[in-house]
Amino acid sequence: MDKQFETAVALLRNAKHAVAFTGAGISVESGIPPFRGDDGIWSKYDPAILELSTYLSTPEKVWPVIRKLFFNYFADAKPNAAHLALAKLESAGMLKGVITQNIDNLHQEAGSKNVIEYHGNSKTFICTKNNQHVSHANEVDFQQPYPKCPVCDSLCKPSFIFFGEAIPVNAIEQSEWHAANCDVMLIVGSTGQVVPAANIPFVASRNGCKIIEINPEPSAFTYEISNFVLKGTATKVLSELITKLNF
Ligand code: NAD
Repeated sequence: MDKQFETAVALLRNAKHAVAFTGAGISVESGIPPFRGDDGIWSKYDPAILELSTYLSTPEKVWPVIRKLFFNYFADAKPNAAHLALAKLESAGMLKGVITQNIDNLHQEAGSKNVIEYHGNSKTFICTKNNQHVSHANEVDFQQPYPKCPVCDSLCKPSFIFFGEAIPVNAIEQSEWHAANCDVMLIVGSTGQVVPAANIPFVASRNGCKIIEINPEPSAFTYEISNFVLKGTATKVLSELITKLNF
């Protein structure tokens, strides 16, 4: 077995505070495309489509794209072996939680309990007129020209973060706490190009945390902070990791 892999397994086994940081790559094998790369969403669409101001001013133009980009893929997606492996590590007490940039809810569906959603979630919708009105995605009529709040009929939006929107305060606080206290961080499937999320592993590394990265391609973390790079897809590498840890 590869020496890097063996050392990474030993690190994880002996960690006092291990945490995972995940990106779109962990859900690729669930059928959800990532944003970047040859087949990524941004190779086909202008990122301006996800500006909050664009959505608020022209929801009828933006909504069909959002529905196609996200919800068409999310509808059939199921957690894969990588999501399940992280949930197993958490239930065995070897992982304190998952900080995810993803909005697909697959960590929760896999059984992870402590999930910090840095960019929100797609399972609920929030009213843009009265933000106390929060509805489950099932209650929203997706076939309307744009989604309407089931309570007051105003425009509502998915509860994930659009460009130009603030990151949820509790997600920032919890991520900062992990970054200050973790001794091992598993980064799975992230380019590290989206800030401020991508700052979290850098802060952890500066605090002395060992970084184990899983990705088939190099990322912004690879040559800067990753102490161990386990090259490969999330399902393959995390399944091997779990087997080696005797799960
Ligand atoms: P990204 O789209 O920028 O990059 C994806 C990364 O995953 C790349 O580094 C790529 O090499 C890697 N990857 C591809 N296939 C993989 C596999 N099978 N196993 C492991 N890694 C693989 O992703 P990002 O860094 O997370 O940033 C994009 C932003 O897009 C995030 O903010 C996130 O909110 C959002 N996003 C979320 C979803 C989702 O919820 N599933 C999907 C697309 C984008």
